[in-house]
Amino acid sequence: MHKKILILMSDTGGGHRAAAQAISEAIHHLCPDQYEVVIEDIWIDHTRWPLNRLPNAYPWLSDTGARWWLLIWNVSKRRRLRHGVLRTANLLVQRKIVRLLHELQPDIVVSVHPAMTYLAARWVERARINAPFYTVVTDMVTVHPAWVHPGVTGCIVSTPPAREQAIAHGISPEKVAVCGQPVGLKFARLAGEKQQLRQQLGMDMTRPAILIVGGGEGIGRVYDIARAVAQRVPQAQLVIVAGRNKELKQQLESVVWEIPAHIHGFVNNMPELMGAADILITKGGPGTISEAFIAGLPVIISGYIPGQEAGNVQYVLENKAGAYAAEPAEIAALVQGWLAPDNETLPRMKQNAARLARPYASLEIARHICGLTDSIPAYTKSSSGV
Ligand code: UDP
Repeated sequence: MHKKILILMSDTGGGHRAAAQAISEAIHHLCPDQYEVVIEDIWIDHTRWPLNRLPNAYPWLSDTGARWWLLIWNVSKRRRLRHGVLRTANLLVQRKIVRLLHELQPDIVVSVHPAMTYLAARWVERARINAPFYTVVTDMVTVHPAWVHPGVTGCIVSTPPAREQAIAHGISPEKVAVCGQPVGLKFARLAGEKQQLRQQLGMDMTRPAILIVGGGEGIGRVYDIARAVAQRVPQAQLVIVAGRNKELKQQLESVVWEIPAHIHGFVNNMPELMGAADILITKGGPGTISEAFIAGLPVIISGYIPGQEAGNVQYVLENKAGAYAAEPAEIAALVQGWLAPDNETLPRMKQNAARLARPYASLEIARHICGLTDSIPAYTKSSSGV
């Protein structure tokens, strides 16, 4: 009989769903036909108004309203206050979610969202389902205390600095494992296939390709950056991902571009786009940055969500795997410099990015969650089936 794994997430940004899907894919790869994985957006699909509307505020909070976000992020570090707010919200949701747990009867529960850790531990207890409960921290470096609950079975983090922070927030060290960021296996499979990918995607085969992404929500100065690159780097081509930001997509589509420009809304082929690109310009999202490491893409970070993404910028810079520049003109100048003949920055950063890459992190995570103690079956491009 299949065992059932329930992954709790919510669509604030694109990273939590991408992480849940990567873990699910890895579980199926490691243990074919042994597990059923159910991914549930708890806030949107299983709570009532007004709680189910809160995720809608995230694109604004993480972009134009970033000052408010930082305030919430800092204030919610206070444990008593945070737990008080969560317990109050729980009055509106607990019954429904405990019922969901009874219906699903999961054998293992996993959370990939910080707003779920404390409450999910209570829901699992209240439902008396006796399932191990794991948290997978999707913030690469900066761990907010909301991610950490001492009672979980295990807490999985991306990097050694994240482990130190989790321990500082009160979980015992033996419960914290460093596995890397959960990223789809396809990123590793498609790395190094640039020419075929460009052909498939209808891209120019010779122009250097600059990929611009603003996370799942298409936030930041994507438009201004794209315009600056188009005007100052005439030898390039652009691939621009507007994510769920429809207004941005329309704005980009209304431009008569000076250089070839491929404009997308929310894409499901990020591994292909990264595999075909030469440079990535992105906000400091942990998912996108980890994917870029695997794809061997030097990164220009153009901004970051205050609080949880600040550490990612520092991590990239300390490891010399990219650069930070906030002004579109400055970003375009960096790109132009990196593409100059004989400039050695790109190959050097590519190497440094590759050192940080953990292409099989999702398999490591799946191994922890499924309690596999033997070594991971070798993952090769041909065995991936993805
Ligand atoms: N993503 C995607 N399609 C898009 C835009 C983004 O699949 O059109 C994915 C991206 O590959 C990454 C995630 O969404 O896996 C974004 O996560 P990140 O942590 O970088 O930022 P967030 O959007 O969560 O703030």
